[in-house]
Amino acid sequence: MGKIYQLESKLQNLIAAGEVIENIANVVKELVENALDANSTEIDVSLDESGMKRIQVVDNGSGMDEADAKMAFLRHATSKIRTEYDLFHINSLGFRGEALPSIAAVSKVELITSEGNDAGIKVVVEDNVIKSVETVGARKGTSITVSRLFYHTPARFKYLKSTRQELAKIVELISKFALSHPKVAFSLENNEKTLLRTFQTGNIPDVIASIYGIVCAKAMLPFKGSTRDYHVEGYLSKPLETRSTRKDIHLFVNQRPIQDYQIQSTIIEAYGQLLPIKRFPIVTLLIEVDPQLIDVNVHPAKHQVKFSELDSLKALVYQSIKSALKDQSVYETYVVSDPFIKQEQALFVNEKLTPYEQTSLFEAKSPVSEQTTFPNLDYIGQYRGTYLLFQNEEGLYLMDQHAAAERIRYERYLLNMGNRKSDSYRLLLPITLQVSASEMTLIDEELTDKLLKLGVKIAFVKDGVEVTQIPHWFPRGHESEFAETMIKNLIDNRQAGAKELLNELAILLSCKHSLKANAYVDSENANELLSGLSKCENPFTCPHGRPIFVKLTKNELEKLFKRS
Ligand code: ZN
Ligand code: ZN
Repeated sequence: MGKIYQLESKLQNLIAAGEVIENIANVVKELVENALDANSTEIDVSLDESGMKRIQVVDNGSGMDEADAKMAFLRHATSKIRTEYDLFHINSLGFRGEALPSIAAVSKVELITSEGNDAGIKVVVEDNVIKSVETVGARKGTSITVSRLFYHTPARFKYLKSTRQELAKIVELISKFALSHPKVAFSLENNEKTLLRTFQTGNIPDVIASIYGIVCAKAMLPFKGSTRDYHVEGYLSKPLETRSTRKDIHLFVNQRPIQDYQIQSTIIEAYGQLLPIKRFPIVTLLIEVDPQLIDVNVHPAKHQVKFSELDSLKALVYQSIKSALKDQSVYETYVVSDPFIKQEQALFVNEKLTPYEQTSLFEAKSPVSEQTTFPNLDYIGQYRGTYLLFQNEEGLYLMDQHAAAERIRYERYLLNMGNRKSDSYRLLLPITLQVSASEMTLIDEELTDKLLKLGVKIAFVKDGVEVTQIPHWFPRGHESEFAETMIKNLIDNRQAGAKELLNELAILLSCKHSLKANAYVDSENANELLSGLSKCENPFTCPHGRPIFVKLTKNELEKLFKRS
């Protein structure tokens, strides 16, 4: 008896919403979900022209017999869902059997499948009609080839974004499948070029290494936690490894990728002050829950789930992440005269400066606050390893040590950039970039040109991208970090002009490399910070716009103590 049943019509209507095949990524998603449902441990996706010409998914799963292979193309046949109840408590990934007829309605499909006992079966479907069924030699598993996608409705192609963006979407999709199925080996290639490959190690950091590179995988911390209803676990990036969008926060419920703004926000909240403003972590969060406690939105394009006890889930996520971040030493140790600063200063003195340009690359970010002159201050001490206390005739000053250090470094970077914006040099040893597989597909000619204008030259090599030329103002020892951050920011925000981009880079890197909260500062260091700040163009706010000083006047204090 076959594994696929036809659904009764009431149920058919319920899942009619599932018929949407809007773009290439949808097709790939449906086919990969089918492969996972068939218990495959190896799934190979290969595309021609980003899938516009051909999509092929080959798996080593259970395969189908002849009856099932033909039935698979019938509308509303499924092996997974049999009753309305099942539909609302979907434990499996998708609607196997539902996907194939929808795909066949807009393309030509060739299916080769075998259960491994005897020969395989090959079914060709065109115009939603079975054109041929024949016996062929085949190994255990299923291979589905989709071509001439949307040939009936060429207008659909208009709605597809550029092929590059479609491809990036597919890379992201396969990345998500791989993160939630570390025991399955995935491969993805386009025009015979491998874009992503994972191995069946069962180990999520290995998958992270395949997607984001080894460096990033090493910056991951595990976390986990449970309540009566939920179990959560996963990996999160240390606060120094951040991105400019939320798209690398991957959420899964029972191994199924979902989107949930509230849970994303909970994760970001758990990082709290450890994250720079407008920067986001890389997170894989796997939620396990009894399917009875969730409602899966049946529209397959939405990936949304309604949780009962959402608040307790949010609290669990928050606590698990918070404690993972607390247990580890994630703070950068800091010395005011760290080698990084010395190097930069040396860089200034030793090299011939290009004439300073009259039209500075940057205007001051905000007008100097009410206070126009920098106060003369005496150091008193440090409060909670985070605030530095100063005094003068007028009152008591509290300085946020991170904000102060950040401002000083930020202005130094800006000065560097302004001085030598067109000045760059060739690297003897090119830098190999650590970019994720989906970022890689988004590096195109336009982006390469923009980078060149900023002094960064890149070249495509066998397995990735190399940086061959960089501007002089990249601090020594941090060349790859600067190049990488610049390229990633540009990928995330293509519209950004040079000025905006460099400013973002200066803010990000100054934040990352500056003295953090919870670090001891002695009086010498405190005075160095103060004098550095006094030379700044805008010594009263950090580059993110937060205040550096809070002042309590003598009068205010006297009022508080009811002395006046
Ligand atoms: Zn900061
Ligand atoms: Zn700041």
